[in-house]
Amino acid sequence: MPVVDMEDIVRLAKQRGFIFPSAEIYGGFRSTYDYGPLGVLMLRNVKNEWWRSMVQMRHDVVGLDAAILSSPRIWEASGHLANFTDPMVDCRKCKERWRADHLEPAAADGLVHCPNCDSTDLTEARAFNLMFKTHAGPLEDEGSVAYLRPETAQGHFVNFLNVLQTSRKRPPFGIAQIGKSFRNEITPGNFVFRTREFEQMELEYFVPPAEADKWFDYWRTERLEWYVSLGIDRQRLRLRDHDQEELSHYSAGTTDVEFMFPWGWGELEGIANRTDYDLRAHAEASGVKLEYFDQASGERYVPYVIEPAAGATRTMMAFLLAAYDRDQIGGEERTVLRLHPRIAPYQVAVLPLSKKETLVPVAEEVLGLLQPIAMCDYDETQSIGRRYRRQDEIGTPLAVTIDFDSLEDRAVTIRDRDTTAQVRVPIERVVEEVRSRLGIAGF
Ligand code: ATP
Repeated sequence: MPVVDMEDIVRLAKQRGFIFPSAEIYGGFRSTYDYGPLGVLMLRNVKNEWWRSMVQMRHDVVGLDAAILSSPRIWEASGHLANFTDPMVDCRKCKERWRADHLEPAAADGLVHCPNCDSTDLTEARAFNLMFKTHAGPLEDEGSVAYLRPETAQGHFVNFLNVLQTSRKRPPFGIAQIGKSFRNEITPGNFVFRTREFEQMELEYFVPPAEADKWFDYWRTERLEWYVSLGIDRQRLRLRDHDQEELSHYSAGTTDVEFMFPWGWGELEGIANRTDYDLRAHAEASGVKLEYFDQASGERYVPYVIEPAAGATRTMMAFLLAAYDRDQIGGEERTVLRLHPRIAPYQVAVLPLSKKETLVPVAEEVLGLLQPIAMCDYDETQSIGRRYRRQDEIGTPLAVTIDFDSLEDRAVTIRDRDTTAQVRVPIERVVEEVRSRLGIAGF
């Protein structure tokens, strides 16, 4: 497995316009990040691929986009107000705050030391709720409290009846949602692995209770294979089952899909059997029955829920790490992102050999042919060698070059990022050739 330093990824992300530290001109703002021109394309691709496999390619899943700003009653009922807390200790000397379960007594003196300043003057552990609290409306009183959702999931449960009644689906069926979530993480870090504002991709899959184990196994495999299908080496992925103490308050079983990050294995996604915990909790708190009535069998039941919950931003970072490579081309070292064409920010770069007036109209014609089928970059300055390097470094699978011969033979050169092999193709066949090389019959 190639070893990549986090610094390489962070540097490339910044220099090439994937991810910038937020509010940088003010010195940055607490582990928040902005997605630049390439980052926004790549993150969209990650989300689109998830949506494609979870919604478009299935007939048993429908979509949802619920509100981020949410009623305290949701989080009271879900157990997040009571349970979504980490025990924290503060260092009295340097004022840093740490998760108590991350600190171990030192072997030398048996005391817990602050990882920042080494002081042993730490407070007792206290519960710290991870939800961001705010106020909706002009009055900042108890009656106006609202929360930023810490997961997208409760939106699926509180809309269970709405979806059931409008979508004509019946268990087993799922509701998929992609969106921002917010957690006041105590120790954000490792770039965008853990941030306070992040994006999730969550499916809640409602099943007859007796089928829960079967569907849990199904989604474990399905989800692992999704990462493999988009180019992550199987060796860098694993499934890890939670043991009893690790399980969340709602879960009867959880398996994480983990990725080998530079610092070790880390979670990309959790697949949980949430049982009927959430639907029952919301039914009890709201007084509205959240059940399914099977007309054929006359049976009424509260479905169990299997939840594959993934992080879009964290997954994007895993794709960057997995794709990062260095090799030698003609004795020259290059950096190349071997991204899957569906994940890469641009699929094609259109590069006129020079800015000469004669070449530009042909280059624009080729660009116009390719833009409807792929995200294209267009670049006409610098030497062609440097432009190829740049495209390699941002992971563009194909470059189409228009040269002076193109004016005569109406043909262009297509260069492959991974092999750097080049082929000459007539302009009238360029769309077909690009499509087949990228494996993108359609979206
Ligand atoms: P962790 O153990 O890493 O804190 P979690 O088990 O609390 O994660 P879940 O609640 O299962 O995470 O959320 C589902 C997914 O959302 C995670 O697998 C991860 O990809 C993503 N995620 C959760 N918290 C964050 C965060 N603070 N920053 C970025 N992504 C996150």
